[in-house]
Amino acid sequence: MDGTPPFDVERVRSSFDFVGQGRVATNNAASTQLPRELLQLYGELVPQYENVHRGQSDASVRMTARFEAAFDTIADWIGAPSRRTISIHRNTTEAINLVMYTLLTEFRDGDNVVTTMMEHNSDYVPWYALCHEILPRFGRRVECRIARFDHETGALDLDDLAELVDDRTKLVCCTGASNFLGTKPPLPEVRRIADSSGYPQPNGERRSWLLVDGAQLVPSALVDVEALDVEFLAFSFHKFLAPLGVGVLYAKEHLRRGSLPFLYGGDMIAEGRVTPDRVEYNALPWKFSAGTPNILGVVASAEALRLTIDLTGADPGRTWFRSADRIPRAISGAAMARIAAHTTSLTQRAIASLSTIPRLRVFGVPQGEVRAPLVAFTVEGLSPFAIAAALNTRGVESRAGCHCATLAHHDLGLDPPASCRLSFYLYNSTDDVDRAVEAVRAAVAVTT
Ligand code: PLP
Repeated sequence: MDGTPPFDVERVRSSFDFVGQGRVATNNAASTQLPRELLQLYGELVPQYENVHRGQSDASVRMTARFEAAFDTIADWIGAPSRRTISIHRNTTEAINLVMYTLLTEFRDGDNVVTTMMEHNSDYVPWYALCHEILPRFGRRVECRIARFDHETGALDLDDLAELVDDRTKLVCCTGASNFLGTKPPLPEVRRIADSSGYPQPNGERRSWLLVDGAQLVPSALVDVEALDVEFLAFSFHKFLAPLGVGVLYAKEHLRRGSLPFLYGGDMIAEGRVTPDRVEYNALPWKFSAGTPNILGVVASAEALRLTIDLTGADPGRTWFRSADRIPRAISGAAMARIAAHTTSLTQRAIASLSTIPRLRVFGVPQGEVRAPLVAFTVEGLSPFAIAAALNTRGVESRAGCHCATLAHHDLGLDPPASCRLSFYLYNSTDDVDRAVEAVRAAVAVTT
């Protein structure tokens, strides 16, 4: 024992207003719920807010300091060396599109990009568009290759990935955790395969760059971008307790320096450095921050990270929410370990119970192995949409459809391409799981 008290889910739940409304909030892979403390923070910030980098008032200076400090908190959380590696966007989708658009000029005729069959459309459609629609207009032919997964276990087929990656692979794009199968591909192995290509990058490196879609990974595990040695990591704060509208792209600093900007306009240029003949871009990270950003969202997102520590009880005796201190990795690691332990046990409970329901098929890695805290399933003879509607009548929130993991649904031969998904977060209780599973059991019983 490390001396910390056990994870107290009832204490966590007391911070969330949805609890009193009888909702079983089990659609967290789409978006998590907002803790009351963050809503209160908004209430406090609004009367004194001002734009950032655009005013000399006390309010503007204060807000700028807070906004900039949020970049440090976010960088620290994912093990990034500095705020210069972080840019803020609307969501994961926009962050991945940034990578696509800024690499657009670098792809050479005959190159390829390798992605996987389990990607969310956000990490497939941009690469499809690049290869099939955008680059052909410039007379360049670049191939989009897709690595398979094992249909039984949901594991990424690393042999297939290794076959697809060759000396013309500029970029490998891989999810950190599938939002449908729950699979967490072994990123060190993926890194090794990307390295083996020897692809000559314009900056002299000889490796395929690696982009990780962290939308489901970052809220469920502590990620260390330096240890993983990824070039790019994208994620969204709306899956991590924070308000909607804040996505993050981590990119290695030397790549950001060498890259063209993504969006052009105010604040991404150096103060006073625009003439008819010459434009000088701002220092990092502001080179990638064109236009007025989602200031309150960014501040609240950093506070959501601090609040996570308080909610999980990872550092008893201290309050991190609204503290100005940098968060040591040991503390953020302890918080994420507590979330992972709790949500893993809920997920395993759900899988074990669901598996006893006749005609029900669970997708993804077998019980007991590491997976994202979600479970997708189908029931023979019953539409996933009908299941989701039946669950809803009992207050149980789920998602039916292909969850934007369209390739994987087609690949598994699901017709229509749809499944029903339950997904868990730190405020879910075993009672939530049992109510959700009982609701599925009842829906199936009606059609038997
Ligand atoms: N990637 C994965 C694995 C996801 O689960 C999601 C959202 O569900 C996304 C990308 C897209 O995230 P956003 O809608 O925030 O852009």
